[in-house]
Amino acid sequence: MDDRDKRRVGEQIEPGGRPKAPGRLETLQRFVNTYNKDFPPAWDRLGTPAKAQAWLLRKGLVAPPVRITYGDVARLREIREALRALVAANHGSAVPRGALGTLRHEGAGVRLRVGFGPRGATELEPVGRGADAAVATVLDILHEAQISGLWPRLKACRQCGYAFFDRSKNRSAAWCAMSICGNRTKNRTYRRRRARSHAVPTSRS
Ligand SMILES: [Zn+2]
Repeated sequence: MDDRDKRRVGEQIEPGGRPKAPGRLETLQRFVNTYNKDFPPAWDRLGTPAKAQAWLLRKGLVAPPVRITYGDVARLREIREALRALVAANHGSAVPRGALGTLRHEGAGVRLRVGFGPRGATELEPVGRGADAAVATVLDILHEAQISGLWPRLKACRQCGYAFFDRSKNRSAAWCAMSICGNRTKNRTYRRRRARSHAVPTSRS
């Protein structure tokens, strides 16, 4: 994969060609995948106010006119990493306290109202604007996915933290793509084992 393709990972390209998360959960998945620690920090889609603003507008998470600040960027990135920790916990581990603290704090502040479509279908809509609206929508999606039962299938790659949707029958997928991170992990284990078995006690006498 060349750099041009790597930059598209998380948006146009899914590692391993996995289908994206269904429905609105895809937006939350994309939000977590606006950054991957295996890629340069400059590739962070929420890395600057201008980048974050463009991304949020593209996803319909904010409506123009909008002005995203450096403070908003820091807040959005903190929420993103808290969500990544929550997704990682779907492998069966506990949610780190710091992540829960961030989400509880944000959850206490969001404002949503019940909207009605032409056929009476209800939908929660953010009341605020800008980053507040984006955060409210993301947390609404999270809540909706937990109610619908989709949430446990959103996982974080054990190697790189990439959020992927696990469609396997027994929900056992652990890596974003076996061909990339799965093999990398296996190779490392193999190298470690090999190094141990080949280690010869040295003598300095
Ligand atoms: Zn990975």
